[in-house]
Amino acid sequence: MYNNIIENNILLLSRLQGIGSRSSRRILLDLMKKKEGLLKPLISSLQELYDSIIPCEECFNLDTSNPCYICANPKRDRTKIAVVEDISGLWAIERASEKTNSYNGLYFVLGGTLSATKGATPESLRIPNLIDKIMNNANINEVILATSATSEGRITANYISDLIPENIKVSSLAQGIPMGGEIDYLDESTLSTAINLRTTNKL
Ligand SMILES: [Zn+2]
Repeated sequence: MYNNIIENNILLLSRLQGIGSRSSRRILLDLMKKKEGLLKPLISSLQELYDSIIPCEECFNLDTSNPCYICANPKRDRTKIAVVEDISGLWAIERASEKTNSYNGLYFVLGGTLSATKGATPESLRIPNLIDKIMNNANINEVILATSATSEGRITANYISDLIPENIKVSSLAQGIPMGGEIDYLDESTLSTAINLRTTNKL
């Protein structure tokens, strides 16, 4: 039905998260129809992105500068650090906070949750890095554990909580997050509320 070039592009697009083969065909056809107006600027914009992506060595966000725009911002509240499983969680909290100003602190991206089946260990999740950062940074007085409400998310949060010194407040996102809900699927107001009403008792 399709030639190899078209087929190959459909296959590549279908590898994007949340895009099935039907959506990838629709997207590709749209791009082909808008060859000059959309496809061309998209190619150059993606090339520019490709050339400039760099992980932040402070928080492990992905950005076009290291440290990232958050870690480099002198107006951020350096007394708070939010621990998220994935960059998508960081972006979700930032997006929600843009409108509601619910969070202006720093972040740390674990890159997953503790899992025996997936072989994710404290070291592979950079948990020793996180603890070092908290211990060696006298400004930090609150650690917000913004992991998912899944069992692995909770186990990870508990593990980290046990390693944090007593003098530092440990909080977690308020209840109301659906069971098994990942934070980047929450709408902005729910997420802002969960940050604002975070519970500050030790887990
Ligand atoms: Zn950063």
